[in-house]
Amino acid sequence: MKAAVLYGENDLRYQEVTTPHAKPGEVVVQVKACGICTTDVKILAGESTPRDLPTILGHEVAGLVHEVGDGVKGLEVGQRVAVYPIASASTSSVWPTGLTGGSPNTSVFPSLW
Ligand SMILES: [Zn+2]
Repeated sequence: MKAAVLYGENDLRYQEVTTPHAKPGEVVVQVKACGICTTDVKILAGESTPRDLPTILGHEVAGLVHEVGDGVKGLEVGQRVAVYPIASASTSSVWPTGLTGGSPNTSVFPSLW
């Protein structure tokens, strides 16, 4: 898959990255839309530092469930979902970043659109 990968301040590269696979309790989402918020802009400008570099910015996404890990209930491949990045860990988690594996506290919710 292709992604814009941040390597450091104002160093954003559009490149091929490895498609992640869902581990038990996880879901991989094919991102169809992504918001760019103040946090992303500050990180790109070097005003805030992400935990790990390189990383893929954009934590407010919506898309389609691409892969469901063992033990995940209520989500299926192809289902439309929205990702709420600051929800506490529940029965599902998502790995939207590809390179870093995303936050273990990210939750995925079915979407109504
Ligand atoms: Zn944000």
